Amino acid sequence: MSRTETHSEIRDAVRKLCARFPGPYWRALDRDRAYPTEFVTALTEAGWLSVLIPEQYGGAGLGLSAACAVLEEIHRSGANGAACHAQMYTMGTLLRHGSEAQKERWLPKVASGEIRLQAFGVTEPTSGTDTTRIQTFAKRAGDKYVVNGSKIWISRAEHSDLMVLLCRTSPRDDAGKTSDGMSVLLVDMREAKGNGLTIKPVRTMLNHATTELFFDDMEVPAENLIGREGSGFKYIIDGMNAERILIAAECIGDGKFFVDRASTYAKERSVFGGPIGENQGVQFPIARAHVQVTAAGLMVDHAAQLFEAGEPCGSEANMAKMTASEASWYAADVCVQTHGGFGFAEEYDIERKFRETRLYQVAPISTNLILSHVATHVLGMPKSF
Ligand SMILES: Cc1cc2nc3c(=O)[nH]c(=O)nc-3n(C[C@H](O)[C@H](O)[C@H](O)COP(=O)(O)OP(=O)(O)OC[C@H]3O[C@@H](n4cnc5c(N)ncnc54)[C@H](O)[C@@H]3O)c2cc1C
Repeated sequence: MSRTETHSEIRDAVRKLCARFPGPYWRALDRDRAYPTEFVTALTEAGWLSVLIPEQYGGAGLGLSAACAVLEEIHRSGANGAACHAQMYTMGTLLRHGSEAQKERWLPKVASGEIRLQAFGVTEPTSGTDTTRIQTFAKRAGDKYVVNGSKIWISRAEHSDLMVLLCRTSPRDDAGKTSDGMSVLLVDMREAKGNGLTIKPVRTMLNHATTELFFDDMEVPAENLIGREGSGFKYIIDGMNAERILIAAECIGDGKFFVDRASTYAKERSVFGGPIGENQGVQFPIARAHVQVTAAGLMVDHAAQLFEAGEPCGSEANMAKMTASEASWYAADVCVQTHGGFGFAEEYDIERKFRETRLYQVAPISTNLILSHVATHVLGMPKSF
């Protein structure tokens, strides 16, 4: 079966939904850096954000490749799933490592859309990618934790009810391994806001609803600890494979958007008495972009299949994210070039998508860190850090 045929019913339905939210909708939001509430509500009501939640908790219980199809089609349509994609994977930490009581309490409400769990708090201003050096500290005090510290780039915090938060519960120097001593708390931000939690939006080059968080004696009930105290890093790493594969699927959607737009324009735009697309200097880069997006798509499929089979897929998830983000970025550049001056005009949506797809070489993990993983874990070369 060819790639485009997989999950064809899901793809058709998502395409139809996205058609209700065309370019002008996204352009207006982009200008104001506003949240696509109507779009997220429509996706929630149609059940697309809960495809990975098991049926017993009210979701569709589908595999990762179905979720990839949803996000790829969203991005291919010219829309952007970043406003809500974390709904899909953030709950995985709770699903895999939470207690039965926690799952029964939260997952059905997340599946129905009654509450949103789409904030994921890991990155800190001083530690960067070196996650074991995070400084946000949760100190146990009776039946609660008292949290102090800060986070940066925590997306959707203003539009989420719950947040999966990684913090230290014992100092790095006291831990046996540097990755020990970190824990995951499920923070109810509805209660925490104004009670120790301050959220400050960060304006960026794209409309991403990202924020900086400050914790000042923020109290979290001890019953909201996910899994075992001190083992949180492992739980977070577990969820990152799904996140990387899903983001890679978004890149494939972006790549297809750019290739479609570029090849269409190259056929229609006439300069020097003929379509610009008859010049190989114009058509070859577009063909190359198509080749790269298609190849990266196969890598994404492969990683998703391994994930669904419960096989180790850390390296494949990383490789999928890297190849897909590079393919979409190349396609974006080619699409702008093909459109000449019009590539810079807001009304074509290309400059917006160009800015949006650039993110994925930095977040959720930057290309250098993927190369470092492949060099040391796959190829066995010595570690530099
Ligand atoms: C819009 C946006 C949304 C985000 N959303 C979230 C979110 O919801 N939750 C969350 O927790 N985080 C989020 N992030 C953070 C994101 O995951 C990080 O920005 C990303 O992982 C890179 O980390 P950093 O910015 O700290 O870069 P740094 O770690 O400071 O690295 C800077 C540069 O140096 C390179 N580098 C660093 N160390 C090495 C090395 N040893 N060898 C070679 N190169 C190296 C990196 O590759 C990178 O290019 C978001 C970021 C952005 C921009």
